[in-house]
Amino acid sequence: GTRALKDPALLRQQCYIDGAWADADSGATIAVTNPATGETVATVPKAGTAETRRAIEAAQKALPAWRAKTAKERSTILRKWFDLMMANQDDLAAIMTAEQGKPLAEAKGEIAYAASFIEWFAEEGKRIYGDVIPAHGADKRIVVIKQPIGVCAAITPWNFPAAMITRKAGPALAAGCTMVLKPASQTPLSALALCELAERAGVPKGVFSCVTGAAGEIGGEMTSNAIVKKVTFTGSTEIGKKLLEQCAATVKKTSMELGGNAPFIVFDDADLEPAVRGAIASKYRNAGQTCVCANRILVQDGIYDRFVEKLAEAVKQMKVGDGFKEGTVIGPLIDDKAVLKVEEHITDAVSKGARVVVGGKRGDLGHSFFEPTILADTTPDMKIFHEETFGPVAPIFRFKTDDEAIRLANDTEFGLASYFYSRDIGRVWRVAEALESGIVGINEGIISTEVAPFGGVKESGLGREGSHYGIDDFIEIKYLCMGNI
Ligand code: ADP
Repeated sequence: GTRALKDPALLRQQCYIDGAWADADSGATIAVTNPATGETVATVPKAGTAETRRAIEAAQKALPAWRAKTAKERSTILRKWFDLMMANQDDLAAIMTAEQGKPLAEAKGEIAYAASFIEWFAEEGKRIYGDVIPAHGADKRIVVIKQPIGVCAAITPWNFPAAMITRKAGPALAAGCTMVLKPASQTPLSALALCELAERAGVPKGVFSCVTGAAGEIGGEMTSNAIVKKVTFTGSTEIGKKLLEQCAATVKKTSMELGGNAPFIVFDDADLEPAVRGAIASKYRNAGQTCVCANRILVQDGIYDRFVEKLAEAVKQMKVGDGFKEGTVIGPLIDDKAVLKVEEHITDAVSKGARVVVGGKRGDLGHSFFEPTILADTTPDMKIFHEETFGPVAPIFRFKTDDEAIRLANDTEFGLASYFYSRDIGRVWRVAEALESGIVGINEGIISTEVAPFGGVKESGLGREGSHYGIDDFIEIKYLCMGNI
């Protein structure tokens, strides 16, 4: 199971619906396992359509009072939620490492990152300003007001079990919306712990509910129920497209944070050490299981061999192990399916001429552990160029000119993050403007922060999370036209 918690009440094993803890109507449960050991950590209800409908109806009932509060009143409650997350950071991190596998230090970092969205939007909620527009007639006045969209549904993935929730709940609640959440079945415990803290912070019943269980049924209800005005999702492009289709019938607003295939370009004039550090941070964080992980490392001819050598030196130092073990920097992958995908990409690349420089196999820890891997001499005809690997594999492609680098970087249907390293100011502007992605890291491998807008173009998604833009996804604009003044 998980480590002894200072506050065992944070380990909740029931759904949180309308301010009450509840089992599935059927009594069915899902086991939550620790990917490092295969042990069952806890069970959660396998809820479905009926429980989701109740949560949605509770969110509708809670909406008028929540919406009517002043922004400052909502802000005070959210600020308390933030404080409680930080006060319980160690326990929340331990719960996360137990269900997700990431190293404890990374889990602690994620809790702080997750909490930062609540803090940010607690503040930002006070600044949802409207507009006064010079009118089209002397006797008219035009005013624009902003109102909460209403009841929102959120579906979140397992790779960031806390932060992907607060990015959505923070702006939604700050704006005056209510929300029903379905967390990933692999990592529901982090979500339920957040519910416990939300309740302690004074979030009124029904304002934030969490339903664990059957994805198809819960998602089906969330996307078809007319009460729900907005669906916000983080996960695969495949499921995102399905949800968009389902939402079309009732014309729901949607935010979609979907897959990526991030290029990481190193030009000849790059500073080598920071480029290597950036590649390590971007590629291997969370064992490569983030949608902004460098998926294709493109290195210019003149610096290629030196880059591969330096990267290999750094990767050989990385310690794979149980996330609870001191010094671990790479935990297990989420499950065996994830390992099979990594192996498939490596086998395909090697069969087409790639060279394994470091790693390339599962290692001797068993379960879903995989060694951090570098593949050199990879080429665009390989699967790893086109598909998101979501694992600790760095394929290194060679290019000659800037135009070639940009063409390769953009040769994907995805457009979430991209990265490049160069010291030439002209090149920096040209490349940054030419890359087709919502986020560009320039001489920087870590781009996530609550103060900046996170989101993708092309098939990587719709909308932005974080920053002052993040609240736009949860408000409606209303135009008031006053005449005969
Ligand atoms: P990942 O591969 O990262 O798990 P998914 O897109 O499969 O990404 O899952 C992201 C979230 O979407 C999870 O909470 C998952 O349970 C949920 N999900 C999966 N299938 C569906 C579905 N048909 N309808 C609604 N939600 C779904």
